[in-house]
Amino acid sequence: MPSSIMEKFESMAYGPAPEDATEVLRWLDAHNRRFGHFINGNWNAPSSTTFETRNPATGELLATVAQGSATDVGAAVAAAQAALPAWQALTGHQRARYLYAFARQVQKHARKLAVLETLDNGKPIRESRDIDIPLVARHFYYHAGWAQLLGPLDETGFTGEDFRGYTPVGVVGQIIPWNFPLLMFAWKVAPALAAGCTVVIKPAEYTPLTALLMAEIADEIGLPTGVLNVINGKGETGAALASHPGLNKVAFTGSTEVGRLIRKETASSAKKLSLELGGKSPYIVFDDADLDSAVEGLVDGIWFNQGQVCCAGSRLLVQERVAEKLYDKIRARMSVLRVGSPLDKAIDIGAIADRVQYDRIEQYIQTGIQEGATCWQPELPMPERGLFLRPTLLTGVAPASTVAQEEIFGPVLAAMTFRTPAEAVELANNTSYGLAACIWSENINVALDVAAQVKAGVVWVNATNLFDAACGFGGYRESGYGREGGKEGMYEYLQPAWLGGAGQDGEPVALPEPGPGSEFAAPDAAQALRHDLLDAAIDRTVKHYIGGKQVRPDSGYSFPVAGADGRLVGHAPLGNRKDIRNAVEAARGAAAKWARQTAHGRAQVLYYLAENLVQRREEIVRKLAAFVGESQAAVEFDTAVERTFSYAAWTDKFEGSVHNPPMRMVAMAMHEAIGTVAVLAGDEAPLLGLFSLLLPAVAMGNTVVAVPGERAATLIGELYQVFDTSDLPGGVVNLVAGKPMELGKTLAEHDDVDAIWSFRDLSASAMVKAASIGNLKQVWTNEGRAVDWFDPAQGEGRWYLRHATQVKNIWVPYGE
Ligand code: NDP
Repeated sequence: MPSSIMEKFESMAYGPAPEDATEVLRWLDAHNRRFGHFINGNWNAPSSTTFETRNPATGELLATVAQGSATDVGAAVAAAQAALPAWQALTGHQRARYLYAFARQVQKHARKLAVLETLDNGKPIRESRDIDIPLVARHFYYHAGWAQLLGPLDETGFTGEDFRGYTPVGVVGQIIPWNFPLLMFAWKVAPALAAGCTVVIKPAEYTPLTALLMAEIADEIGLPTGVLNVINGKGETGAALASHPGLNKVAFTGSTEVGRLIRKETASSAKKLSLELGGKSPYIVFDDADLDSAVEGLVDGIWFNQGQVCCAGSRLLVQERVAEKLYDKIRARMSVLRVGSPLDKAIDIGAIADRVQYDRIEQYIQTGIQEGATCWQPELPMPERGLFLRPTLLTGVAPASTVAQEEIFGPVLAAMTFRTPAEAVELANNTSYGLAACIWSENINVALDVAAQVKAGVVWVNATNLFDAACGFGGYRESGYGREGGKEGMYEYLQPAWLGGAGQDGEPVALPEPGPGSEFAAPDAAQALRHDLLDAAIDRTVKHYIGGKQVRPDSGYSFPVAGADGRLVGHAPLGNRKDIRNAVEAARGAAAKWARQTAHGRAQVLYYLAENLVQRREEIVRKLAAFVGESQAAVEFDTAVERTFSYAAWTDKFEGSVHNPPMRMVAMAMHEAIGTVAVLAGDEAPLLGLFSLLLPAVAMGNTVVAVPGERAATLIGELYQVFDTSDLPGGVVNLVAGKPMELGKTLAEHDDVDAIWSFRDLSASAMVKAASIGNLKQVWTNEGRAVDWFDPAQGEGRWYLRHATQVKNIWVPYGE
């Protein structure tokens, strides 16, 4: 150890700089190192079942914490329900004051919160002090702003400009992980409270302490009782919370595995769900990159928080020409990283949060070696006890190997090479996840081109792991859905007022009774249609519309569809799994090109479609009239034309935004197509209902496989003539008729369908949710509630467009 300043300067060595934990330990002692739950503003006495939370760096016992039972969860949800009306009745300004007070308290207690976080989690104090806590405060400030701007709530919803017509979702259950305990608390609680929701939150078992200190702060600022409730416990407590029928929404951050369990738990309910799950994010380095900066970025990308970061740049993809040079630089940098006591201010890498996690990471390293990777770890001085792991570099990793595919959640970098930008994109997207990506290149054109093609919710150009409350965060694919932060994050806690506010259900959807003879009708009704078949006025057999072509049903069957008077209107093809698979393949094939089409180009197609639709007014209205009567038929047709114009108009107007986070960066929030969207339409307004779902999806660059309602199925013949003449590329819209529950299930289970929308009855909503648990695709349903398709406030606009897009935030630095 150098002794003189000159020696220190020469060697650039650090001495230990330990943070003083006395005040935090005193706070723990003041609670007798025992904590209960915070329910309805009271601390519940620790129950007989408890668990321990320890300092992972030393193994020292920090506190004993009550394990929440189903009864405790029930009490917390009841408190949140009771607090909801009064909390919603406050003006936005009044709620803003509470959020502002939270932010101020976080700043006042900044060091205490940072030290407590580091003791409980094992992360370096440098990170909790300089990154986590300032971001926590920023989140509360930012959301104080949204509370203010929402304005008062009346029967029409919020009256402020930005979210006019929206209401709070209601009571929210939130479950958070251990890697950023307090930051995740802020990401969850701040938008929920701003939106007028009340909360029950369960922190992770390894790291409950900062959430409990925040509960104490809530008490100090006089937050109305029951608005925020904290329940401690393990996975069982989380499961009890997620399944509680008193919740209107569940928000979860954690592993994809538990995300799936929660999805299953909530599938049969109308609870709104947002999932922020794992990742295996690519860190792409091109040969023209500033390699030293890229290496420095990696320190934050994979060794930040010991790599226990959902968006860690854990897959290094480096252009072949500079690979060895970069690896040398990485090894040199790794050799001077400091591993040690997280409370030491000069430490880079602290302790792993728990023994289970530690063993899991060790196991992954062994698996990587067994699968052919070369493992390199620096010779660093390591603490003698505690859960410390050396930073690890695995090179020569095969793209399909375990360490390239699975989230390790530790300080382990898996490296592989690529030759061309196209290969980089292919490798980057060769994962079931899609949370984040880093792109290093001095060529901004290449960087932005690749950013557009990478499937990830956040892309950092020449930077890594940057966060801000104004910039939404969340994933594509199995990294979950829903966003946290930004305006898009607020929508997660709001819903259109006409859908019914918390606790009040809207009108249930009333699907027309299946006509006699239909595949959906009882057999005796089918018998009744026989006579009518002979003298039917319009008898025509239509086919599916797949890949721009009329296609006979694989089953070889059609089904008869009766009008309101029981007489035959026509036949529709009876689709099966094979038809659906063909339609998905066609939609998939058309997706990339349609998404790349300019917004102006898509608008032209939709305008043209409206023009051609009008040409067929007479025959379509006549058929519609058989189902809905003449007066609705005419209005419905005209409204469908108008809606087509609306979405042609929206196509180049539903644009993203540019954020100015508090650093020299811009974050471009792009609205991207989701991919292939499956649609199950109802039949109350056969044409308009179908169009109201097809159009926003297509306008935003998605391709669609739609199962029309039974009545609309008879219109396929007219519709494909319209589509064919409107320059709509084959495969962009595919219509497969048949039994919606059966075809919908195949669509929900299909891995190549990126999102599924169900606007039929409650059983269809529950079915699509249940059938897509495995692939975690985005699901959007009407929860069986009726939509008045004739009312533009309900039947069109941003609510639809938001669901037809996902936000990708691309961060780009500026300046030298
Ligand atoms: P989990 O997903 O198990 O934990 C997240 C939260 O969910 C915790 O509060 C946990 O409680 C709770 N939970 C656990 N089981 C259930 C359940 N059945 N129903 C409801 N809630 C439940 O993550 P782990 O802590 O087990 O970590 C495992 C792996 O997950 C990591 O190795 C990492 O790969 C990944 N992970 C990803 C994160 C991300 O941000 N993307 C964050 C954390 C982990 P409790 O802590 O008490 O078990």
